[in-house]
Amino acid sequence: MAITKTDFMRGMQCRRMLWLDKHRPKLRVIPPEVQERLNAGNDFGDRAMGMFGPYEEMTVCLPGKQIPDKKAMVERTREALQRGVDVICEAAFSDYNNYCAADILRRTDRGHDLYEVKNAHHVSEQFIRDAAFQNYIITRSGVKIDRIFIVIHGPDEENPFGPVDVTREAKGYYSWINENIWDLNRMQKEKEEVIVQPGDQCTEPYECWYYGYCHGGTEDRRDPDLLDGLFP
Ligand code: SF4
Repeated sequence: MAITKTDFMRGMQCRRMLWLDKHRPKLRVIPPEVQERLNAGNDFGDRAMGMFGPYEEMTVCLPGKQIPDKKAMVERTREALQRGVDVICEAAFSDYNNYCAADILRRTDRGHDLYEVKNAHHVSEQFIRDAAFQNYIITRSGVKIDRIFIVIHGPDEENPFGPVDVTREAKGYYSWINENIWDLNRMQKEKEEVIVQPGDQCTEPYECWYYGYCHGGTEDRRDPDLLDGLFP
């Protein structure tokens, strides 16, 4: 696969970060609380799958692993779309090997609505960019996206899910994604380390896991495969 949603977001925060992900992932130092969150998975996301009633989930793992089998998921999604399934979860798409999996895709009269689920109480610009990347890949795969929502926590237990319509903002990122995705694709394959000097991007919007390395720290650590599986 070429660029995934996570690759794109990390590469746009810092190109060196994406290069290190691809070539030297063992340099990552992941804060314990982030590691715990990754290990625990996303209970809110799991529950949100059922917010519209019955659904079909497209997740397929590689044999004996917790890592998504992206090719099989794309194929399974294609088949579900052909059958006209109303609600598809973890719907996977690929365009020139660039890849995304949408949390929820819901059939409408005009195409499909896209729902990106976030375990949060407010919509951030980063969330909208996540959804925008999916819209880009899905649209180029030939599926028409109608409206785009970020699903955050609702106001109370009786209304646990609060979809926020971000259609206009997310679709507005289409050109920005197109302008950058091919450059990131090319850059990540470079043999020599891509050097970016440390700066504000090391902590914004997220603290970089290579902070110690770029600022003169140490090596380690955890199993890079784990992250590949958790960040489709
Ligand atoms: S620490 Fe800073 S310069 Fe190094 S990869 Fe991360 S964001 Fe880029």
